[in-house]
Amino acid sequence: MPRLFLLLLTIATATAGEAKRPNIVVFFSDDHTTQSISAYGDARKLLKTPGIDRIAKEGMRFDRCLVTNSICGPSRATVLTGTYAHINGFWNNTNSRFDASQATFPKLLQGAGYQTAIIGKWHLGSDPTGFDHWQILPGQGIYYNPPMIRNGEKIKIDGYVSEIITDETVKWLGTRDRSKPFLLMCQHKAPHREWEPALRHLNFDNDRIYEEPANLFDDYANRGPGVKDQDMSLEVTMTERDLKLVPPKSLTSEQRKEWDAYYEPRNAAFRAANLSGKALTKWKYQRYLHDYLACVKSVDESVATVLEQLDREGLADDTIVIYASDQGFFLGEHGWFDKRWIFEESLRTPFVVRWPGVAKAGSTNDRIVSLLDVAQTLLDVAGVAAPERMQGRSLVPLLKGQTPADWRTAFFYQYVEYPSPHRVRPHEGVITDRYKLVRYFGVGADHYDLFDRTSDPAEMRSVYGDPAYAAAQQELGADLARLKQELKVPAELPPTVFGNQPLK
Ligand code: CA
Repeated sequence: MPRLFLLLLTIATATAGEAKRPNIVVFFSDDHTTQSISAYGDARKLLKTPGIDRIAKEGMRFDRCLVTNSICGPSRATVLTGTYAHINGFWNNTNSRFDASQATFPKLLQGAGYQTAIIGKWHLGSDPTGFDHWQILPGQGIYYNPPMIRNGEKIKIDGYVSEIITDETVKWLGTRDRSKPFLLMCQHKAPHREWEPALRHLNFDNDRIYEEPANLFDDYANRGPGVKDQDMSLEVTMTERDLKLVPPKSLTSEQRKEWDAYYEPRNAAFRAANLSGKALTKWKYQRYLHDYLACVKSVDESVATVLEQLDREGLADDTIVIYASDQGFFLGEHGWFDKRWIFEESLRTPFVVRWPGVAKAGSTNDRIVSLLDVAQTLLDVAGVAAPERMQGRSLVPLLKGQTPADWRTAFFYQYVEYPSPHRVRPHEGVITDRYKLVRYFGVGADHYDLFDRTSDPAEMRSVYGDPAYAAAQQELGADLARLKQELKVPAELPPTVFGNQPLK
């Protein structure tokens, strides 16, 4: 009898423990910036995003979630491992491959009894590990009729990529093992370049003219040479494919008809106008915004659909829902598209969390948090110890509305992929609430820029060397050295980390 009693007690305890562990749904999109999310108070009022806004309204919006490195693969490796590139080994998109043997939060959750699934973009070279179910796009993936790999098997599903990822996510929810808590990662390709919209969204904005950012025609004055020789401008870098002057090859003939019906008359008018100079850049900006925002719309609809499915399944109260992107993006600020920079538009990423009964509905948090913190946060949520090597911090206290007194006030950033693509110089820096100290290295002589975001929120003027900022400059320099030491950043980086082309 006592043995049976003990056994029953053990089962009851395990069941009670199990019930306390919430499910976790992570929406992770690609290159989706806060300037195109209405919950973030987008100044240009570019797009209404009711799906993502619902998470913010029912949970907490983090206003300063920063990335360790504003580029796809490295940022994804950081999310999974809770470490910087010099620890997880994934430095750039050019020649890095994710070492799947290392500790990741999905693997640890799986080991602790979670059922784990990932559907959508992966983009880390090696196959996913730590997932009971995985269905990913190979490489970057394509927008129309994308090939996918499901648990190692190649498949192809016709349709639009965001809708396929949504359908497969909803489908997985219906077939999961209901006896276990789950981690479900719904990872969108959109709105990554080349920003190809769902055909049903092509006319979504009725040829609206979008407000331009004040620095669309940035001349890169008042800063060091680091910002000048990049190759990521609307003016110079955008291709015919980016601008939809040529169609993608993956469309079926039926899809191609719909594509042509929208783009061809507009492209004919563009060619007839024979634009040049600023007028041409302005046209590119409008075309870019139309396409990018249409892609965001498909992601936002996905969020709304999956949230509704959680409601239908009665899961909403027991499920943490996170929406984030792998980094931000430029929507014409500084004349740019793309990401990579330590500047706000690409450094900051959306991060909203719904956790019923814990995170207060409609709350906001302006502390410096990071995608580096995701792994430790979700392990904390599940009561799983985080490995020593992880370099972030659990956001659980912040979600409860209690910011620890020793929360970080300075954050380290490092970008290295150079020169291809986009010729953004390797740079690193330290970010505080007010300042940003940037060190450019590896190309020509090292140089520094310093930005005061209080007086210069658009980061147009470096005050490095200005005597008025001498004390701040010294303090930030000390912060940078301290953070590099604490995070064990190597003083010299091996040449391979920059990509497949040697530094000049
Ligand atoms: Ca990305």
